[in-house]
Amino acid sequence: MNSLDDLYREIILDHYRTPRNRGELPPPAVRVEGFNPLCGDEIVVHLAVTDGVIADIKLTGQGCSISQASSSLMSAAVKGKSLEQVRAVISSFKQLMTLEESVDQSPANLRSLGEIAALQGVVKFPVRIKCATLAWNTLAQALDELPS
Ligand code: ZN
Repeated sequence: MNSLDDLYREIILDHYRTPRNRGELPPPAVRVEGFNPLCGDEIVVHLAVTDGVIADIKLTGQGCSISQASSSLMSAAVKGKSLEQVRAVISSFKQLMTLEESVDQSPANLRSLGEIAALQGVVKFPVRIKCATLAWNTLAQALDELPS
């Protein structure tokens, strides 16, 4: 185990123990539920968008440590970002969760992803990938449901 693994483990534990952006938002915030039947993880994303920017995001739900840490990391990564930036972060994260060798796993690229790179170790455990991606898929669905 190297120090990067230690750091990543610490980030995931920190987000699991002290989840960011827990709670709900009143309408007109978009509310979307996500469920991972393989593990029993549930996540509800509440999304408030103003002038093309994620003004606020709140989460409720329960599940395994990976699903809950991932949702907390996701909320911290997208809050205050423009919808365009958020779509870019979602696609970077999905790339991170693939086993394709074309994915840039260099330290520089991982650093550019910030804390969400902490989840890259999950890819070694394919059964947990759905736990990690649940929050992100639910967020993507919430973006699709935004009134245009
Ligand atoms: Zn899970």
